[in-house]
Amino acid sequence: MTGHKTAVNALGVYADRTKASLDDPRVETIAEALRRTGNKSIGVVSTAEVEDATPAAVVAHTRLRADKADIVGMFFVVKPEIVLGGGSAYFLPQSTPGSKRKDDKDYIAMFRDAGYTLATDKTELVAAKGTNTGKILGLFHTGNMDTTLDREFLKKGSVEKFPNQPGLVEMTQTALDQLSKDEDGFFLMVEAASVDKMSHPMDWERSLFETIEFDKAVGIGMEFAKTHPDTLIVATGDHTHGVSIIGTIDDQKPGEEMRDKVGVYADAGFPNYTDENGDGYPDKVDVTRRLAIFASNFPDYYETFRPKLDGPFEPAVQNGAKQYIANEKYKDVPGAVLRVGNLPKTAGTAVHAVDDVVLQATGPGAEEFKGYMEESDVYRVLADTLALAPATN
Ligand SMILES: [Zn+2]
Repeated sequence: MTGHKTAVNALGVYADRTKASLDDPRVETIAEALRRTGNKSIGVVSTAEVEDATPAAVVAHTRLRADKADIVGMFFVVKPEIVLGGGSAYFLPQSTPGSKRKDDKDYIAMFRDAGYTLATDKTELVAAKGTNTGKILGLFHTGNMDTTLDREFLKKGSVEKFPNQPGLVEMTQTALDQLSKDEDGFFLMVEAASVDKMSHPMDWERSLFETIEFDKAVGIGMEFAKTHPDTLIVATGDHTHGVSIIGTIDDQKPGEEMRDKVGVYADAGFPNYTDENGDGYPDKVDVTRRLAIFASNFPDYYETFRPKLDGPFEPAVQNGAKQYIANEKYKDVPGAVLRVGNLPKTAGTAVHAVDDVVLQATGPGAEEFKGYMEESDVYRVLADTLALAPATN
């Protein structure tokens, strides 16, 4: 988002040596460069809190990504035309129940006064499409939004509390509908945040459903590009997790232990998920021959070899000494086995890995993505494609 190397937990700054997180030397973000050089519109869409690292990186300058209340103020400075995601708790004044602010600023009111149409659920998001201001602030959850598996299928997580959340597909479509009204063009960042959020607790079914949803969101972009061939689409990840599909788990395989039912190589066969209604998602996740997915790093936890139907997996919990231990909740799942962690006991979930990431692109400028690239050089391609260079050059 800046074309500069940075440091862990930093956004849009060169990390300095002082403790204060908001005084570090700033580098311009892509949204600021767009504001400075032209009239293009800007959109930020995520299934995480909009203050989370990836959406925040479009606008923010701080040494600490945890400065979420300050990051809301940074969104207000740049004012992307479209901001859709979770994280409303940091927009509300401290007097409002559920607020995570330590001051009385009411950013919901401030954005409304700045001409934004507000949306708090899917119905309001659809209604907001008719707005003629072209500016939408959609905040659909106080924290991170629920996953597709919970939202559309299992109704677990916090879906009972937030029953009408839109998904990444609807948010992407709405963003494109609005932003494409700008004849000067637009920049849109869309993050399928829960691919990562669910990889941390090793909840593979939820993570894979999010991956399918991301694929559909890319599809929305590809459809848009058919009628708007001057569109560059870039799909990539900000990091990997240490995780692999290694075969299948087949309940029908003989054996006393669940590990006996793991099929590898030629023995893996094909999973027996079905998609009768053709929506692109498996009709159910707890089929008898399902994907076998394991992490390379983990805290102590009970491996159940099964999808978590009663809500997102919480592999480890803190004890009195603030160390993470296996969550006893999963101890009595038939066949569950204790895995002793290979991470420090301060880690409650699996962690990011340093593997190279895949980047795929299509449209004008896509030919500049090739071979092996530094992540900071991705920005150069975007800058060239958006013609951010000075007019004299
Ligand atoms: Zn992560």
